[in-house]
Amino acid sequence: MAEMFDIVIIGAGSGGCNAAIRAADLGKKVALIEYRKSDGIGGACLNRGCIPTKALIRSAEVYSLAKKMKAFGVSSDHVSFDLKDILTKKDAVVKKLAFGLEYLLKLRKVAIKKGEGEGS
Ligand SMILES: Cc1cc2nc3c(=O)[nH]c(=O)nc-3n(C[C@H](O)[C@H](O)[C@H](O)COP(=O)(O)OP(=O)(O)OC[C@H]3O[C@@H](n4cnc5c(N)ncnc54)[C@H](O)[C@@H]3O)c2cc1C
Repeated sequence: MAEMFDIVIIGAGSGGCNAAIRAADLGKKVALIEYRKSDGIGGACLNRGCIPTKALIRSAEVYSLAKKMKAFGVSSDHVSFDLKDILTKKDAVVKKLAFGLEYLLKLRKVAIKKGEGEGS
């Protein structure tokens, strides 16, 4: 038997997730459809836009500050970075926020569906 929803939202990006949360808070039965396998919940912003870029920029900032540590009276023999570790950290930030976003949707009983949505 077909499932029935008050609102079906196509795309689980920032826009879709916010709309789903708001609609569910207003008492609607909501489904959220996402077709991308690489981008899970959160769309471009969470998976390859705002969040990953900010995580990478933060690593660059920490490295840059560490290079200036002598000026602050702090010393260390060697300051270096490992791109693999930086990417691991970035992935961990994305994973943590994706988990949190999915939790917020599930808490509101938003049905998350994998597949391609089409308007009629
Ligand atoms: C490198 C980069 C850095 C950015 N930095 C910032 C920033 O610092 N601050 C800021 O405000 N914005 C930033 N942005 C912009 C931000 O990512 C977008 O404004 C935001 O993602 C738009 O959200 P959206 O939900 O409209 O679209 P999207 O995030 O693109 O989400 C749409 C979702 O719908 C899915 N979809 C589309 N069609 C279908 C279909 N037919 N069926 C099922 N699913 C479908 C897509 O797969 C996608 O997951 C950045 C973008 C990039 C690329």
